[in-house]
This record gives sequence, C-alpha cells and structure tokens, in this order.
Amino acid sequence: TTMRIGLLFGGRSGEHEVSISSARAIARALAAEENASKYEVLPFYIQKNGRWLSGTLPQQILASGKPLEIEEQTGQDDSPAGQFPNFNAVDVWFPVLHGPNGEDGTVQGLLKLMQVPFVGSGVLGSAIGMDKIAMKMAFAQAGLPQVKYIAVNRSEIWSNPCVFPKLCDKIEADLGYPCFVKPANLGSSVGISKARSRAELEAALDSAASYDRRIIVEAGVVARELECAVLGNDNPKASTVGEITFQSDFYDYETKYTLGQADCSIPAKVSSAIVSQIQEMAVQAFLAVDAAGLARVDFFYIESTGEVLINEINTFPGFTATSMYPQMWAADGISFPELVDRLIQLALERHGEKG
Ligand code: ADP
Ligand code: MG
Ligand code: MG
Repeated sequence: TTMRIGLLFGGRSGEHEVSISSARAIARALAAEENASKYEVLPFYIQKNGRWLSGTLPQQILASGKPLEIEEQTGQDDSPAGQFPNFNAVDVWFPVLHGPNGEDGTVQGLLKLMQVPFVGSGVLGSAIGMDKIAMKMAFAQAGLPQVKYIAVNRSEIWSNPCVFPKLCDKIEADLGYPCFVKPANLGSSVGISKARSRAELEAALDSAASYDRRIIVEAGVVARELECAVLGNDNPKASTVGEITFQSDFYDYETKYTLGQADCSIPAKVSSAIVSQIQEMAVQAFLAVDAAGLARVDFFYIESTGEVLINEINTFPGFTATSMYPQMWAADGISFPELVDRLIQLALERHGEKG
C-alpha cells in the first residue's frame, strides 16, 4: 500500500515563492522511480491570506511553480465535496514552509494536535530555531561560540524617546560598527541591515522594528560563510561542509534569490580540522534547539584568526534541486529522492516515540 504524503506549501511568509519551488522539487522526488510505489502526494496549498486549498489547484501550482495571484484568491476549494479538508487521508505530513507561520512551530503545533507524523522539527525546535534571540541563548548554553549580540525589544525603539539614544550608545560601546540589525523571527535576510554609523543604526533599528517586536543586533564579522546539513533525530549526522560566496556586501535577499549572484562550493575548501569542528558544532546546535529530521546550520569562519562561530540554524532550509541542503547530502552520496524518503522515515520514527 502506498503512504499518502500531505505536502503543505505556500504559506503566510515572505518565502512563499521559495516554498513553492521546494515543494515542486519534493513532489518530483516522491514521484521518482525509487519512491513512486511507496508514496502518493496530496498537495495542500496555503495562500498568502492564510486560506488552505486542496484538490487540483495545488496540483496546478506545483506544476506551474507560480503562486495564485490575489485576484484569483477566491478561497473556493475545488476538491470533491466532502473531501475538504481531506486532512484525514494523510498518513505523513511534509510541511514545506519557510519562515514565520510555517518553520516557526505554528504549523507544527497544528500537526501535532492532529496526531499524525510530520517531517522535521516539532514545536519547540521550530520555535527556537526561528527566533534568533532564543536560538542564541540555546547555543550559548551549549557552549557554542558566536558573535557578540544585544537583544532589543521594539518598545525600546518606538515607545520611549529617552531610552532610544541610550540603547544606541550601548550598541556602539559593546558592539561597535559595523553591526547587523535583524528582526528576530524572519529568514531570507528580510529586514536585515548592516549599520556603519549612528545614523544607519537608528534607521536599521526603526526598520527592523517594523518587522518584529523582537530584534537582535550583532557585532559584524569579516568571515567566510560555511554551511553544514544535519539529518536524523536523536543521533543526527552532519554532512560535507559547503561554502557560499558572493560579491555583494553581505548575503542579502537579492543575492540569495537572483540567479548568478551567489555561488556555492561543495565541499568547501577548508582544512579537515575546520570541517570536523563545523560538523561537531552543527550536531551540537541541532541538539541544543531540539531540532528533528533536518536542519542546515550556518557558520562564520574568520580565516585570519581560525575562529569558527555559529551564525544560525534553519529547521526547514531551502529544498529546491539547487539548494545547499540537498546538494550537501548529494556530495555524501544521498540522492534527492533518497533524502526525501529518509525524512519521511525519520518522521515515522519520531512519531512512534513518546514525548
Ligand atoms: P537569515 O536567517 O535571514 O538568513 P542571517 O542571520 O543568516 O539571517 O543573516 C543573513 C546574512 O547577513 C548572513 O548570511 C551574512 O551574510 C550576513 N550577516 C548576518 N549577521 C552577520 C554578522 N554578525 N557579521 C557579518 N555578516 C553577517
Ligand atoms: Mg535563517
Ligand atoms: Mg542565514
């Protein structure tokens, strides 16, 4: 008998389009020769306005790779009467959602409530992995080295004109320039600015506050950016290490999603000692936030001092055919279809455990 995989994609985040690309690649992998007899795909599309669609529309979106335009968002479901939401037909959920309202524990909470296995981290791992302040606290507790940072609440920026200059003074004194100002709960570099002066810092804080109540300011480092994929549950394994390179000032949204602006090299050209250190840190980070199934852990490698700092964990990293996560596993001999198969098996394994 085939297992019905509920592919959940789209979503209410800035990474809606990326989610569609990832879901297409995963749907293709589930239909690949080695998986086709085991799995059947039931696609569910979450529109930008939060409505869920099942039936043929999600299939068309997967086929075309294009999101539904707002005008077309009728909210009408075209699945056969009585079958929507055909949640109960799903054997394993595969939430292919990036960023807030998908990678952050919200959807995971819903799936957990339904008591059906799902791919990837649970509520806690997803939530800690999404919030850069909580994530850094978990990393610090695990003894993982990272950049100096200051956690800020929006109220310190917007609500009290006396507090704001003191906050900026503190950032200048403790972190200096350049520093990076980030909304705590986003991805794809959305809302992130690099500040090189007081004026830029003030603008950056104001901008970040428009995205999130929670904001993090970090000391800027000059470093190579290395990434490591992790796969597993309680005994996770780390992949070959890869490197991202680009010409722009930092790895911002445009650089991430404009073809040809960023390159990757897998394996990264670094010593085997650095590779081992990163692999070890990647597994520690995965366990520190209670991730499950998969995660991509990103690092700064400061070549001049030999230091490796952890930057972040992404509990549902980009998963298109050309994304780093599947490519790093491909370098270790795990093909894309096999990777997807393993993630489903890990979801079943985790579901069978208590807690
Ligand atoms: P996201 O979760 O949106 O990917 P990141 O924290 O990874 O956010 O930041 C995006 C990019 O910004 C990084 O890949 C890097 O190029 C740059 N960056 C972020 N923080 C720093 C820092 N402290 N020092 C230097 N560069 C940074
Ligand atoms: Mg991220
Ligand atoms: Mg990042």
